[in-house]
Amino acid sequence: TPDELAELLRSHVREVPDFPEPGVLFRDITPLLADGPAFAALVDGLAERYRGTIDAVAGLESRGFILAAPLAHALGVGMITVRKAGRLPGPVLGVDYSLEYGTARLELRSETVAEGSRVLIIDDVLATGGTAAAAIDLIERSGGTVAGLAMLIELVALEGRSKITGYPLESILRY
Ligand code: AMP
Repeated sequence: TPDELAELLRSHVREVPDFPEPGVLFRDITPLLADGPAFAALVDGLAERYRGTIDAVAGLESRGFILAAPLAHALGVGMITVRKAGRLPGPVLGVDYSLEYGTARLELRSETVAEGSRVLIIDDVLATGGTAAAAIDLIERSGGTVAGLAMLIELVALEGRSKITGYPLESILRY
């Protein structure tokens, strides 16, 4: 059941206080990834949820890639890599967005998004929502349709969900 899946996954997420900087409670998914049955259950659960409804999976660098690649394979669809600035050979589309401290930039090759394709955006953690909102902008400017967003973890108090109204956003674990 979804509840059993969530409990299994939750038991493999580690809380790390003050990482990478003081005041941040980091949600570390490395124990989950290192556990074969838990990782498989996560990917299988996502595949069951989205099978037949999407044409591509867009992973957000870096931890989103780890989830997006096996999901794309399981669904038999392609994977789009949404990357940090300067990693992709051009031409690229880019978007600058603000973080709690400073700014960041995401880029993608718009040629990797088929016109009108239904794209699922995936990442490990939804925090402030700035990264996810930037990814939506890139997919749409590339001609894709954002069919949904799937997050392993949603940090509810940061209200990232309020930045992505109008799109189906699903998270498996909420803290
Ligand atoms: P945001 O743009 O604020 O939603 O931040 C999302 C990105 O930062 C995701 O790619 C996460 O991997 C990472 N992130 C932000 N906060 C945390 C946290 N507390 N634990 C783990 N990862 C985080």
